[in-house]
Amino acid sequence: MKFKPELSVNQKIELPFDSSVSLYLKREDLIHPIISGNKYRKLKYNIAFAEKNNHQTLLTFGGAYSNHIAATAEAGRVYGFKTIGVIRGEELEAKINQNPTLKYAQSCGMIFKFVTRDQFKYKSTDSFLEKLKQEFGDFFIIPEGGTNPLAIQGCEEILNPTDLDFGYICSSVGTGGTIAGLINCSKPSQQVLGFSALKGDFLKQDISKFATQTNWDLITDYHFGGYAKINTELVAFINQFKQQYAIALDPVYTGKMLFGIFDLIKKEFFKPNSKILAIHTGGLQGIEGMNKRLKQKQQQLIL
Ligand SMILES: *Cc1c(COP(=O)(O)O)cnc(C)c1O
Repeated sequence: MKFKPELSVNQKIELPFDSSVSLYLKREDLIHPIISGNKYRKLKYNIAFAEKNNHQTLLTFGGAYSNHIAATAEAGRVYGFKTIGVIRGEELEAKINQNPTLKYAQSCGMIFKFVTRDQFKYKSTDSFLEKLKQEFGDFFIIPEGGTNPLAIQGCEEILNPTDLDFGYICSSVGTGGTIAGLINCSKPSQQVLGFSALKGDFLKQDISKFATQTNWDLITDYHFGGYAKINTELVAFINQFKQQYAIALDPVYTGKMLFGIFDLIKKEFFKPNSKILAIHTGGLQGIEGMNKRLKQKQQQLIL
């Protein structure tokens, strides 16, 4: 399927409670079903660079349900690269068929290298990369989550000139690349808010490394216990949102961000009458994997 960045329009979200603020959702999720949202933005210039430099193989890193792994595998299929995914968790090797993300990536031709959690921590060391070179030959490395300067360049294209009259720009944050791009293309008078999808304070430093302005803040109250951790309240919110607006949210990133935005609107965090633009960064492929886990626990599934 072709990329459709033109489908990424700002959709008004009619709030289900009284407030003077207005909320819009930028539908980056509609760009492509797998290379969706920020993963399209992050891969765009990386793929162009790899093509220009005659790389035949892309190598990247990720966890069991990674949107980035799925997007890179699909991009390899579409653009004719071999792809190698270094995956956290040796135990997954025996369970590829039970894991929708890995199964999909494999169907795109991705070759996996499963490593222990400990090995994964040292994945950027010279000695580990040297071993990978010996095993797989030449490759172009895309970091975990896809964040590098070329990715940020792509994310700087998320906002367009008409978005510059929003007072607030909101995005979910994983590695910080997407929000860095948004910060760099925002106006200094706009406030860029990142909703952290994981626990930990290191994110602020990571964002500062790539951000060229200081008009941003990181909101850390809506990670629901950590990366990919969820509860019944979050699932109920995601399902209500889907019913009300016919827009799917993923449980790892955009669901948590919109839960946070709704909560902050209710708490009058935003200036009266302000316009908020939230970025739907995609990631819907992750729902199936989460539902498998919810089913095992006999909990309400994501619709
Ligand atoms: C990867 C991802 C993010 C996080 O983006 P970063 O650039 O790593 O901060 C946010 N939302 C979705 C849906 C994602 O797939």
